[in-house]
Amino acid sequence: MSIRQDRNIVETLVGRAASDGDGVKLIRVFGGQGPERFDPFLMLDEFGSDQAADYIGGFPSHPHRGFETVTYMLEGRMLHEDHLGNRGLLEPGGVQWMTAGRGIIHSEMPQQDSGLMRGFQLWINLPAAEKMQPAGYQDLPPADFPAHRLTNGATLKVIAGDVQLDGQTYSGPIQGKSTEPLYLDLHLPAGGELAIPVAEHLNALIYVYEGEVELGSGSQPGKLRSKHLGRLGEGDTVSVRAGESDARLLLIAGRPLREPIVQYGPFVMNRREEIEQAVLDYRAGRLAS
Ligand code: FE
Repeated sequence: MSIRQDRNIVETLVGRAASDGDGVKLIRVFGGQGPERFDPFLMLDEFGSDQAADYIGGFPSHPHRGFETVTYMLEGRMLHEDHLGNRGLLEPGGVQWMTAGRGIIHSEMPQQDSGLMRGFQLWINLPAAEKMQPAGYQDLPPADFPAHRLTNGATLKVIAGDVQLDGQTYSGPIQGKSTEPLYLDLHLPAGGELAIPVAEHLNALIYVYEGEVELGSGSQPGKLRSKHLGRLGEGDTVSVRAGESDARLLLIAGRPLREPIVQYGPFVMNRREEIEQAVLDYRAGRLAS
């Protein structure tokens, strides 16, 4: 039997208040700066408010090129519409997986004028060879993400990839991507522990959205408080222990692409000229054609 190596925290980031779309208030956990550190992930936003004024403006029509977006709803309803004629209602517990590829123009608008709106949007890069593929879109209903009850009282939802826990493999509906994303939503009871195997070749991040957790092992276990992101170092296991109250966290891992990244807002390519082309294409109305 091989010796397990726990991944420790190598960098901690605190989500910062930001505004995007038409004045939607959100927490930008990371994004825009130094995306190479989080390769293949480009951005993570958390949105959460019960004040309609914080989200009612939504995200009116806007373009994307060169990557994928994953929207995971905890509470509230959003309507996605795009230039391909797709229309999808995002509901609590559901996921939208959008591959912008060579170009998509879409809107994401709230379908409620009161109550709680809460969720996450993650941007995942595409390898150079896949950036100009045709756009694609998948709506995954809440039923695709059953809450698995683990033996220690923890609850697991698998959004993408596979994970082995309690001698069983849990698989999410998103599979077969070049970046091999593993995307888990975990609830740990107070004091609960979990050792999650995460393949060594994947870059791994933990984002705590409620409570706090302790991570890693050895003489210097690290702590992550609510709204903190931990970028994890080498190893094959992510060991988490909840603090004195319940903890809710995302575990996000993926295969780094190790390709140059040039980003201009919603366009993420490898070279400057490709960004200039994206801007020209968008202005000429042919970004997504
Ligand atoms: Fe968008």
